[in-house]
Amino acid sequence: MAISAIASKVREGGRVDAVEALELYRHAPTSLLGELADAVRARKHPERVVTYIIDRNVNYTNVCVAKCNFCAFYREVGSSEGYVLGFDELFRKIDETIAVGGVQLLLQGGHNPDLPLQWYEDLFRAVKERYPSFKLHALSPPEVIHLSRLSGLLAPEIIRRLIAAGLDSIPGGGAEILVDRVRQLLHCYGKATADEWLDVMRHAHRAGLRTTATMMYGTVETDDERLEHMLRLRALQDETGGFTAFITWSYQPEHTELAGQEATGLDYLRTLAIARIVLDNFDNLQASWVTQGGKVGQLSLAYGANDMGSVMIEENVVRAAGASYCMDEVEIVRNIENAGFVAKRRNMHYDLLGDPIFRQREVPRMLELSTARDAGDTHVPEELMNYPARSRAGKQLRIIPN
Ligand code: SF4
Repeated sequence: MAISAIASKVREGGRVDAVEALELYRHAPTSLLGELADAVRARKHPERVVTYIIDRNVNYTNVCVAKCNFCAFYREVGSSEGYVLGFDELFRKIDETIAVGGVQLLLQGGHNPDLPLQWYEDLFRAVKERYPSFKLHALSPPEVIHLSRLSGLLAPEIIRRLIAAGLDSIPGGGAEILVDRVRQLLHCYGKATADEWLDVMRHAHRAGLRTTATMMYGTVETDDERLEHMLRLRALQDETGGFTAFITWSYQPEHTELAGQEATGLDYLRTLAIARIVLDNFDNLQASWVTQGGKVGQLSLAYGANDMGSVMIEENVVRAAGASYCMDEVEIVRNIENAGFVAKRRNMHYDLLGDPIFRQREVPRMLELSTARDAGDTHVPEELMNYPARSRAGKQLRIIPN
């Protein structure tokens, strides 16, 4: 089908198939892709509201046995730079988040063999006991699979137990590209195959959780593999309707084993736009300002995004790979309004919570994103000693000298 005919189909609200999507993605002028994505965005969000959430992106441990070759964040078991955050450190982070109007933690971490399921359950219960209305958007599908392997329990049971302990929703991390050829080349096939990632999300949706979906592009995948990823998400969304949003970002190569070059801003905008067109059953698309910077983040609002993601407060993973953009609420709202939209705070379910918090009360400016820990802080949380370790290094740590 000619590009003009596919464009007409999109304008009329039709669904593109794999061949039509590839034709648009490869050959449509960027201005046309933007126009079509913006039309789909306007159909879904005619009120010109652009949302954002105030939350904190906390990585509870950087110790990981998965060793994905695109990751600059992880440390091997036993590394002197490995850490596990203590419950008290996490409580302090929640206090700081609430102080700037935050409503949830986005809690993800490495696959640490020395943190059993009980540690997560105890942490979630402790958080809910102290902060009953604070939300836990936690543990991406590969972390659920890791816990399933550690405990010998099936993924649905892990999800059930985590919900009972206080889990509110699941972030869509660890999807990278949902094509096993790519996953094998990125050394992330072992942590979760494409089917396994989708299955965890299917179970989560069946258990009543809402989740997000992500895509990290710009490594070794082809453009039709990017589309295959989107089409697999679209199929699961048709089945369950459980995804709230789609977020895509480009691979950040610095300090990674895979290395290479970062995809360009134009590639990002074209990828975002085609995602808005293909994912016709997703209500929300986020702009990834944390990898693309504020300026491209703002431009995203003309290429299909209707959400600026998170004020974030803290970030560790992308920073480890060289990107260190920071926008606090004032800056995010300035970018939204300057693009001609109305800025509203939201929660993970995209319920509107109100106008910007800084217009209602004084909140501290955040001109720099926090890190999990201050540099040089290597202390081991006391409560960790209560949990049995799997690794030799972890067992060693738990032997308390007399
Ligand atoms: S991307 Fe996640 S699972 Fe992979 S090595 Fe990094 S921390 Fe581990």
